[in-house]
Amino acid sequence: MSLDAATLRKDFPILDQVVNDEALVYLDNAATTQKPTAVMDEMVNGYYYKNNANVHRGVHTLAERATVQFEAAREKVRRFIGAKETAEVLFTRGTTTSLNWIARSYGELAIQEGDEIVISYMEHHSNIIPWQQLAKSKKAVLKYIGLTADGQLDLADAEKQITAKTKIVSIAHVSNVLGVINPIEKIRDLAHAQGAVIVVDGAQSVPHMPVDVVALDVDFYCFSGHKMLGPTGIGVLYGKRAHLEQMEPVEFGGEMIDFVNLQDSTWKELPWKFEAGTPNIAGAIGLGAAVDYLEKLGMDQVEAHEQELVAYVLPKLLAIEGLTVYGPQDPSLHTGVITFNLDGLHPHDVATALDMEGVAVRAGHHCAQPLMKYLDVSATARASFYLYNTKEDADRLVEAILATKEFFGHGAF
Ligand code: PMP
Repeated sequence: MSLDAATLRKDFPILDQVVNDEALVYLDNAATTQKPTAVMDEMVNGYYYKNNANVHRGVHTLAERATVQFEAAREKVRRFIGAKETAEVLFTRGTTTSLNWIARSYGELAIQEGDEIVISYMEHHSNIIPWQQLAKSKKAVLKYIGLTADGQLDLADAEKQITAKTKIVSIAHVSNVLGVINPIEKIRDLAHAQGAVIVVDGAQSVPHMPVDVVALDVDFYCFSGHKMLGPTGIGVLYGKRAHLEQMEPVEFGGEMIDFVNLQDSTWKELPWKFEAGTPNIAGAIGLGAAVDYLEKLGMDQVEAHEQELVAYVLPKLLAIEGLTVYGPQDPSLHTGVITFNLDGLHPHDVATALDMEGVAVRAGHHCAQPLMKYLDVSATARASFYLYNTKEDADRLVEAILATKEFFGHGAF
């Protein structure tokens, strides 16, 4: 293994517990990841115990320290994703908020009646609904790129869907259901060739692979802290300065203003013009600590570790009679997200049975109802691996699935 996951696990005490009389195997990392002690320490001891104060406004020592810590976190995030300047790194509540801000603010500028917004069938609801709302309010057209039989973006269809009328293309870098890694560069070229911007939902990519927004040359890139070892309630909206400069803030109030007159006001410079109100200071500091942790490991190592786990477990899962894996079966096209169903069993029953074996997986529509419809299923079970998972965890998943089959009786298959 490229990473020593067994040693890493000492940084994640939550993993060392018994659930339903079995040692916990946590495989719900696509929903949220566990947090290392370094992240919790930085938030609690580094900030709350020593420096707790509001940022930007105060001149007293604690306020200055809190501001330095908060802005240092922004700089860490900038470096982590390769953005040119911290002005392009906005703190939000998470991917959902980031996508909503882009749809509301950039959408307001860019979309006229009859224009097209292009997404795909594998998007998370948070990369669908903001565009639906925008399309409705502007009388624009929302179009979907289809998928190939093995669950990859259909590039031939992408070429058809992205036209001279397209103004915004918004695509997940990695699907939270299929685990498939999408060819963002190719979609970007199609979008840019038509004068459209490309927005990337990076909720499932930034935590799992090296991402460089300048090398990718994308217009916007969104992700969530809690899926990359950080706390909930903090996320990032990266945008190219030229776009962010043009855009109006979505929220108004304290912190984001320069001058407030009786009838109008002026905004601060980037990135603060978008960050109205007291920000999630502890959350940003926690995200900064998560970035430190990931950088110390090296994102290429994190990626290699997950690839190794997927290459190990996918063939074992595919060999189980009555088990269907959705999405590509080539491990190199995958992150550590594997979605499956067992013939004759509802995925909720499968997830409940796996929980009885101490194995935590997700079941449901995974906030991707259009994809479920496209796959012609009502729901699936999903196991998602991360840097602290081991081959033993993968074996436990396979054993638990076999035990589940046994429990429900072979007749069902
Ligand atoms: N997009 C994708 C691909 C996701 O997996 C998720 C989280 N499941 C989101 C967007 C939304 O992220 P959040 O709930 O952190 O805003």
